[in-house]
Amino acid sequence: LPKKGASRFNVSMRFATVDAHLHAEGLTDADLETLARFGVHQVVLCAHDGALPVGDCSAASWRGQFDRLLGFHGPRLERAGLRPMFVLGVHPAHAPERGLEALLEDLPAYLSHPAVVGVGTLGLERFDAHERHVLDRQLALAAELRRPVWMEPSALQGNSGLRRLAGVLHASGFPLERALIGRVTPAMLPTLLALGFTLALEPSEGRLSLADLTRVLKRHGASRFVLSSHAGEGSADLLAVPALVSHLFDAGLPRDLIRRVARDNALAFIGRPDAMSPPGPTIG
Ligand SMILES: [Zn+2]
Repeated sequence: LPKKGASRFNVSMRFATVDAHLHAEGLTDADLETLARFGVHQVVLCAHDGALPVGDCSAASWRGQFDRLLGFHGPRLERAGLRPMFVLGVHPAHAPERGLEALLEDLPAYLSHPAVVGVGTLGLERFDAHERHVLDRQLALAAELRRPVWMEPSALQGNSGLRRLAGVLHASGFPLERALIGRVTPAMLPTLLALGFTLALEPSEGRLSLADLTRVLKRHGASRFVLSSHAGEGSADLLAVPALVSHLFDAGLPRDLIRRVARDNALAFIGRPDAMSPPGPTIG
């Protein structure tokens, strides 16, 4: 991949970047080393329903996923030269019926781990009472611990689903700017911005192209956005963040704006604005 993609990186990266959402279980050690080589430094590993065994969303499986992220994938990232941070939580649409309360009661201990920076990945699919309960419990916990949440709206719900989701957060008193929405499409952007969410921009085929993202950042500035690849799931581009940074430099966007969207905003969002990043490598 790096050889084939090398032509995409014809500028010096100049600073280390943050990838605000990826899934380590879908990435090899070589993938992780490639990420580090292309200037990605801090990486947010998100728990998600996709890492559960097929058809098994038991409490034991959720705990197993959290333990694997912290105990296995975290050290694997560190060996590759990356700095892992974690977002842990139970997706409301795939929460267990049995053992749910005990699982939710275990979350504060997981969230007290120094490298756990947020709660997620959360979302609502059916908007039923069970999902709402699981979401509300975790929003309350996030608010209490002053942590942000990572959310993915259901692709099928469209803009009315986004407004419903915003209504649920409002009702629970959770500030929308502390909810990071991923899997954004061009059609969702105006509604998400109007509602006041923070957005994880992911360059990906079929959703947001590099040209789309350049336009968005030129028009709206960097303040509402962070960058993510969603690498490790499906066909997501491992090098989405460095590719976009390179593209933004080539498109002539100000260095300060690029650094904010590719690093500083994410560190501020997770409450570690002073987290030290080494200077980025020079590529190309
Ligand atoms: Zn994800």
